[in-house]
Amino acid sequence: MTLIKRVLATTALVALTAGAAAAQDKGTVGIAMPTKSSARWIADGENMVKQFEAAGYTTDLQYAEDNIPNQLAQIENMITKGANVLVIAAIDGTTLTSALANADAADIDVVAYDRLIRDSDHVDYYATFDNFQVGVQQANTLVDGLKERFPDQKPWNVELFGGSPDDNNAYFFYDGAMSVLQPLIDSGDIVIPSGQMGMDTVGTLRWDGSVAQARMDNLLSANYTGDETVHGVLSPYDGLSIGIISSLSGVGYGSGDMPMPIVSGQDAEIPSIKAILRGDQYSTIFKDTRELARVTVEMVNAMLEGGEPPINDTETYDNGVKVVPSYLLEPVPVTEANWEEVLIDSGYYTKDQID
Ligand code: BGC
Repeated sequence: MTLIKRVLATTALVALTAGAAAAQDKGTVGIAMPTKSSARWIADGENMVKQFEAAGYTTDLQYAEDNIPNQLAQIENMITKGANVLVIAAIDGTTLTSALANADAADIDVVAYDRLIRDSDHVDYYATFDNFQVGVQQANTLVDGLKERFPDQKPWNVELFGGSPDDNNAYFFYDGAMSVLQPLIDSGDIVIPSGQMGMDTVGTLRWDGSVAQARMDNLLSANYTGDETVHGVLSPYDGLSIGIISSLSGVGYGSGDMPMPIVSGQDAEIPSIKAILRGDQYSTIFKDTRELARVTVEMVNAMLEGGEPPINDTETYDNGVKVVPSYLLEPVPVTEANWEEVLIDSGYYTKDQID
């Protein structure tokens, strides 16, 4: 290579490297997700990596398989490796206080992603959906389904399931749902034959579908002997709904003269969309993880690059130490009537994934 060629080649290489460095220059975002056992969190992770990288960040995405010590170790590791920001969907929102104190000491900003992180001052922003509204929508679809499938069978027999008691969202979903159901219980239109109510009693640790299935088995054998049948089940998450439906099918619901009860859900996961199309599950709630990723990237950009973060709620999410400034996205109820418009036309799923 002549000298001039060598100089030109070196200059080109330097320019290329500088270009690549400039594109990756904005810093590293550590993304701590709870589990891959539910498709929604996989989508959240993928959407964030795509959008953060397009905005010029490097990402470090970790899943903790619902194991709290794993998640703590992953977060500590991100801090040690020098992340500039942490985006965390907590497994247990009460276990991160000391990890976040370490993040603060290292001057690392924190966004609570979808689930509120409790008992810490070091949570800068919270990106989520209107969680109370999710519960309202779950109960509204449940009541619509009861009217449609069991018009002449009031009072309707309903059983209640809650989410994981260590997830702040679970209380918002339950309270939102009860804001619709309690008046109908008071008026006698709905009865809860098991008498089991309240998050202390109906919560499902770690959102585990097999725990919900076992509880439904017990509810059926203890309360639905003789002619009594279940008309509806409030379920706060698709993974629980699938377990509940298995239990119901196991004793003959959905066949012969025993119609499947109305079962709600959340997350628009593919097995549940298929169950809706079969008539086993009645509804789910779609939460567009592409939008949640977009809001999160905007929050991080504002913290690292300056500018106004997107915030539309400064009152609702008190984490025990402070009210965390939040952005709440709108959830969308989905039934057989609108699934195609909401999930296929928006490009969230392809038709092939559902067929
Ligand atoms: C999320 C729900 C999800 C549940 C179980 C909650 O914190 O908001 O979308 O269904 O966790 O993963």
